[in-house]
Amino acid sequence: MEAFFLSMGEKPFRAQQILKWIHHQGVDDFDQMTNVSKVLRERLSECAEIRPPEIVSQHDSSDGTRKWAIRVTGGSLVETVLIPDGERGTLCVSSQVGCSLDCSFCSTGKQGFQRDLTAAEIIGQVWLAIKSFDGFPSTNKRIVTNVVMMGMGEPLLNFDNVVAAMNIMLDDFGYGISKRRVTLSTSGVVPALDRLAEVAEVSLAISLHAPNDTLRNELVPINKRYPIAKLLASCENYWSKQSDTHRVTTVEYTLIAGVNDCVEQAKELAVLLKDFPCKINLIPFNPFSLSDYRRPSKNAVDRFWKILNAAGFVTTIRSTRGDDIDAACGQLVGQVADRTKRSERHRANYTQTQVLNVR
Ligand code: SAH
Ligand code: SF4
Repeated sequence: MEAFFLSMGEKPFRAQQILKWIHHQGVDDFDQMTNVSKVLRERLSECAEIRPPEIVSQHDSSDGTRKWAIRVTGGSLVETVLIPDGERGTLCVSSQVGCSLDCSFCSTGKQGFQRDLTAAEIIGQVWLAIKSFDGFPSTNKRIVTNVVMMGMGEPLLNFDNVVAAMNIMLDDFGYGISKRRVTLSTSGVVPALDRLAEVAEVSLAISLHAPNDTLRNELVPINKRYPIAKLLASCENYWSKQSDTHRVTTVEYTLIAGVNDCVEQAKELAVLLKDFPCKINLIPFNPFSLSDYRRPSKNAVDRFWKILNAAGFVTTIRSTRGDDIDAACGQLVGQVADRTKRSERHRANYTQTQVLNVR
């Protein structure tokens, strides 16, 4: 922004003024920026725009979770979810339209991939959630206290735009959220994670979902390129580059009935992560229409939790929020003009499976 103003022959401090108008006050019209001269406001409206995301729908869950579908340029829809929890408000932000990685249990993956979101489309989701509750930083209300890059898409495959948007989340002239409260979740794009270590300071979550490469290759296909040992080493490298002394990776493990939820697999996971500084977040699988997977029983989830807990891991079970409005993890589908034609293939496969089941 400073470079932009310099290129206009203006002073760099204009960047801070404009950032504050947009992200502290929620203003989306240059004319309302009263500490900026009329001449500059006119020049700005000729060469720039502040375009809020276009909301297509908004749904409120009975548990307070709110989900927005946003239309992005090109017509596709992406989704953003706000999960209030007492003093805390966690915003789950999308980074791509669809996802190219095709994890077997994820509905976003089943949609195929269309394109990366721009940095503006990513930070716009934060702006929109706060606007929706009239709670910009200038009001001292705290609507979004935490951001998780866990919506649609793989954030590390949209590296530059995600880093730019996260910088505005962290910046005092943006949203001033602390680096521990902005979390990037990745399925394990190792070279990009190594790059992230050099440029970003945020919390890290990895989507593990399996205690060994054989099973992970099936669930998270990118594992064939970057197997578990490489991913864990890359996380350790990430933390070694951070000033934060609380160097703990969140390990996400979606529990799927009969696939990765048995006692032996819990024990194997405990051995795998024995020397890896982490906390484990168990996510009972959230069903969606194109999947045959099932959520494990409460007993099976508790059994898995007990084994990890007894082995000394800080382990939480993610409570399912917003599933009555399809806003729970892995249920975000948006509407993707799929370039990979994957959604059609999956639909065809699914129909075949259904026919076989009936027979
Ligand atoms: N692409 C990134 C971030 C988005 S997915 C990643 O994979 O980490 C956010 C989390 O939701 C991941 O841990 C993902 O594995 C999990 N998830 C995806 N589909 C799910 C489903 N159907 N039920 C439960 N969790 C799911
Ligand atoms: Fe993409 Fe993450 Fe879904 Fe895998 S789990 S398909 S990486 S969004």
